[in-house]
Amino acid sequence: MTDAQLDALKETLAAAPDNALLRLAVVRKLMDNNNLSEALATALDLGSEDVTNPADRVLLSGLFGQAGLTDKVELFAVRDEPTGTIEEQANAEILADQPGTSGRVLRLVGGADIEDGPINDLPEPELPETMTFADVGGLDEVKKDVHRRIILPFSQPSLVQRFRKRSGGGVLMYGPPGCGKTLLARATAGECGAKFVTAHLSEVLDPYIGGSEQRLTQIFQNARSSTPSVLFFDEIEALGAKRSTSTSSHISQLASHFLSEMDGVSANNDGVLTLAATNAPWSMDAAFLRPGRFDRMFFVPPPDRAARAKIFLLELADRLIQDPIDVNALAAATTGRSGADLRAIVEIASDDAIDQTLERGEEVPISQAMLMRAVEETRSTVAEWLTTARNHATYSNQGGRYDDILVFLEQNGRRR
Ligand code: ADP
Repeated sequence: MTDAQLDALKETLAAAPDNALLRLAVVRKLMDNNNLSEALATALDLGSEDVTNPADRVLLSGLFGQAGLTDKVELFAVRDEPTGTIEEQANAEILADQPGTSGRVLRLVGGADIEDGPINDLPEPELPETMTFADVGGLDEVKKDVHRRIILPFSQPSLVQRFRKRSGGGVLMYGPPGCGKTLLARATAGECGAKFVTAHLSEVLDPYIGGSEQRLTQIFQNARSSTPSVLFFDEIEALGAKRSTSTSSHISQLASHFLSEMDGVSANNDGVLTLAATNAPWSMDAAFLRPGRFDRMFFVPPPDRAARAKIFLLELADRLIQDPIDVNALAAATTGRSGADLRAIVEIASDDAIDQTLERGEEVPISQAMLMRAVEETRSTVAEWLTTARNHATYSNQGGRYDDILVFLEQNGRRR
């Protein structure tokens, strides 16, 4: 079938969207043409009762299986197949046909800079809908910088024009894991009075061909439809790794798609501020760092002593504590720990308090001793990052890009 014939078929379907047979025909043709993203979008409106032919049901199960829509797979599954579920068979078939799409992409993302240690076992904190700088401990210099370079031009109409002229682009926050990049992004949105739209790249990546691009477009559209908005991408290095090190053509393709969305090639990005965070700025492809893209970089360092005390205060607020908790002593004992490390310490002490409450049958509050015990039981997740960062900043500083790291190491090498 030619493109023109397919277009005509689609037009007919647009005029008669309830015609299931026609819809199925369009889905089949799109799949024949390997246009799987559109096939999926078209197939979503089909109900189980619309498809009686087992071959068609297998086809649709495979399509939905690749997109990870397990409920849809169930809906179209043919129960009396000889071995395995339809989803397994369809997936096995499609994966065999397309080596290197699904499994590899997911592994690549799953392996991105995830460290072992207690913080990874913690549940994600439930963050309030709107946050401000007051919810972020320390980072005073970064906050000042963010205020001057992002919030002011973004939120003051007289300066907006200037902001637009020089960007459409974004801001990259980098630094060790768990030190407040995500928190700061959220708080920046709050300070701008902008909606916060967040996208974790493992959510964007989809084993199904074309699916990731579609999700990415959807995320950008989401941000564009409710301006002013801050669109935040965490772990951007999973997408923007140097092309030479990227093993997957799928990722390269998705990276190009991301950049064209960010450049606003097919839509207007006015009023959308794109922020991204990475633990590994040195592995980012230069294309991501060009003017108009992530051309402004902020180093988000580990918290200093005063910031650690503030983070302990924030983390202990609303918990049952035994007065008085000396947060300054805790801060002094946690040199070199990240904000997430501190949160882990408070969580461990909370678990301790819960255990003791259960044992004794009466409420036992979190005590200084419990917190200090938790400090001793845990370790810093930042040290390794700083060693890597020192090497990059010393030996491949790319025109002073990582001067902030060197200044930080110089100023805080021994003191913190
Ligand atoms: P990153 O994005 O740098 O990896 P996050 O912003 O996700 O780190 O921080 C992880 C958690 O650690 C936060 O949810 C918060 O509980 C705690 N945290 C880290 N830095 C700070 C900070 N500066 N102030 C308050 N809490 C912090």
